Amino acid sequence: MVTTSRLRVGVLALQGDVREHVRVLADRGAEASLVRRPAELAGVDGLVIPGGESSVIDKLSRAFGMRTPIQDAISAGMPMYGTCAGLILLADRITDGIEGQQTFGGLDATVRRNAFGTQVDSFEVDLDVPVLGEPPVHAVFIRAPLVESVGPGVEILSRLADHRIVAVRQGPLLGTAFHPEVTGEHRFHEMFLDMVRDRSV
Ligand code: GLN
Repeated sequence: MVTTSRLRVGVLALQGDVREHVRVLADRGAEASLVRRPAELAGVDGLVIPGGESSVIDKLSRAFGMRTPIQDAISAGMPMYGTCAGLILLADRITDGIEGQQTFGGLDATVRRNAFGTQVDSFEVDLDVPVLGEPPVHAVFIRAPLVESVGPGVEILSRLADHRIVAVRQGPLLGTAFHPEVTGEHRFHEMFLDMVRDRSV
């Protein structure tokens, strides 16, 4: 029987809500570890890029020599799941980044940083995510981005009621503008672990 217990999944631990992801992944039976160095990235089969501040994670990834190894891993097809700031970092194009802000890229999408402005810093909503079935996902958005446009290879997994895109998948890359790891919602992480398993067999 194939179980999730042998899946080794890293959480990029430069800044952001790292512990919450480690907890959810461990709860689902994965061997979750912190990734700060290239050697630690080499020891995992998939990587979660957490929420936090994308411009800080960008800068720290360069300072820690992680930018190129992460981009190489994306090119090699390593599954990655980005939540919020992590989604921004996976996008090929961003709007409203700070000056000089870079992303790792890989996801053929344009993502707008802080898309809900300063008046609405955070909100919660029940989201319909057809690939996950019922019940809806209770989603928490915290200074969240939005996916403004996607290329033809990108699957849209969920939209807000006004049709704006908040969850996407492209091959081994998964991204959500919200934070399933803070609400006890495990289904996105399960989907991600399935993606890692599919890739590692
Ligand atoms: N606004 C943050 C950024 O630009 C993202 C917020 C979050 O990850 N909760 O990276």
